Order: sequence, then structure tokens, then C-alpha cells
Amino acid sequence: MGDNSVKNENEITLAFALEKDSLSDLAKIPKSDLHSHAGRGGHISFFEKYAGVKITPREDPFESLFEMNQWLKENVKCHLPDGAEGYLKQIEASFAQASADNVTVLALSFCVDEIELLGGMKSFRKTIDGLRDRFAPNTKLYPDLALGYFPEEVKALDEILSCKWFSGVDINNYTGTYTMEELKRICRKAKGAGLLLKAHIGEFGEADDVWRYAEELELDQIQHGVLAAKSEKVMRYLADNQIQLNVCPTSNVMLKVCADYKTHPIHTLCENGVKVTINTDDLLIFNSTLSEEYLKLYRAGMKASDLEVIRQTGLHYME
Ligand SMILES: [Zn+2]
Repeated sequence: MGDNSVKNENEITLAFALEKDSLSDLAKIPKSDLHSHAGRGGHISFFEKYAGVKITPREDPFESLFEMNQWLKENVKCHLPDGAEGYLKQIEASFAQASADNVTVLALSFCVDEIELLGGMKSFRKTIDGLRDRFAPNTKLYPDLALGYFPEEVKALDEILSCKWFSGVDINNYTGTYTMEELKRICRKAKGAGLLLKAHIGEFGEADDVWRYAEELELDQIQHGVLAAKSEKVMRYLADNQIQLNVCPTSNVMLKVCADYKTHPIHTLCENGVKVTINTDDLLIFNSTLSEEYLKLYRAGMKASDLEVIRQTGLHYME
């Protein structure tokens, strides 16, 4: 039997699906998404169907995060009801997408104002778990608490952590909202509650920031971190300390962090022994599924065997 033979689902390997250039086969393979902002993990087609409209995906890179958020508002959110109802549709879409692409390990990040929107931690947890059970029953959810948006959010930290629902904390805007001392206090508290420490670093800024913040905050994983590829010293630090980078290739292309998939820093990071995973960031905006991310990197020259190592790394999240 040659490569053209029909394989049943359990026999399909990542290498087979990549060589066949088959998105439908890739979608059958279990994968992880460890860097996904909860309300932005759905597919455009979900919202087209829901609202009965045509949404044209953005093709050109965004000039700024502000422009990116405007695009979301003007192209998707305008078709959704305000408040909790629209938000819950977005979460439903994220779970539906995880199910459709066989994302079996999913770390979605939620902000404090999302918890408040649903009436506090108790009802938030019940609602989100209910949506997962209904729309992504085969997906293991590892929720991240996203912090860094407004200083008052930390007031809710004790109550949120006491619910023991979150698996990780994800610091966003690492220079914008808190001082290093405040970040250290937050991270110590989160670590004390058994949470994995993650932060958005090394997407913009300096390569040295990745090292500095990873060391000072004792981070377990870094969201993006791709600027580390500019410094052998920083890559050695990450590799020696087994600090995992949850990389989002299309997000980086669409926000002009790099020009294309061939020149994406993931190639250099892997060559230098840095542990990475592949993720979507804001699938709804960047319009690239996890299966598409794997295919794009394969077409850009990554070996199927290296992509398989990355897939396995993601599936063993928090082990
Ligand atoms: Zn992100």
C-alpha cells in the first residue's frame, strides 16, 4: 500500500497529513492551543453563520494593536449583541473551533472584567465549564487568568484564586500597568496558589526583556518570546531552563513582528534547542486555524519530525 491509501483516523500521523497537504487530515490529529485569548478563538465562518452576514478576513498586516482591535469591532463585534450575550457567543465559537480542529488541550485566557461581566467567579466558572461541556466535550480546558489591563483588577485576585479554577496566570502589558515589584508580588501569589506563570513578552520590545522578566518573575512559559531569537545568550538561557515559548506564527506575521513564515524566528529557536509550541493567539482576527499554522510552517521548510516534537510538547502541557 502506498501513500495514496486511505487511512482510518487512528492511523493518520502529522507527517502523513502534512505531506498530503491535507487540512482535513490535520484537523483529525489531536493538538494543543496554549496561547488563545478566550473571546477571540472562534472562526469567522461561525459568526458569518450566526449573524447571516459575509465577513471579509483581513489580508494585510495591521499597523498597530489599536488597528487590530478596531478591525474586530467593525467586522465582527458589530454583528453581536452587547454585553454578556455577545460575549458568550464568542466563547461558544472558541469551543466550537477547538472541537472542529481537534484541539484536545486548550489554555484559554480570561480577563477579570470577563469574570465580572458574568456576575463573579462562581457563576463565571459554571457558565464557562457548561459551554465547554456542550461545545468541546473532548477538550481539556486549562484556563489562564489574564492580568495587566487595569490596576484595580488585583483586588479580585484573592477571591478568584480561592476558587481554584484557573491553571495559570498570564501577564499582559508587562511594562504598562505594574512595576516589577508589583508583578513579582502577583506572580508569587499565583505561584503560591499552584498556578503556572506565563507572560506576554518578546513579541515587541527587546530580546533581553525575555530573559529579564523570565528570571525576575520566575516564569514557567512565555507567550510569544520570539524576539529571543535575536540573542544567542537569551536562547541559551531559555533552553537551559526549559522555559517554553508559546509561539503564534500568523499573529507575528499579521502584526509585522516578522515578514513571513520562512523568516519566522521559530526556525532559529528550534535550531537552538528552545522548547516551543504552536498556537493561534487571536484566531478570529488572524484567521488561521491550528492545522493551518502547522501547514504553513511545513511549507516554509520546517521538518514534519520537528513539528511532531512541537505537537507532543503542547499535548503534555503542565505535566
Ligand atoms: Zn496573545
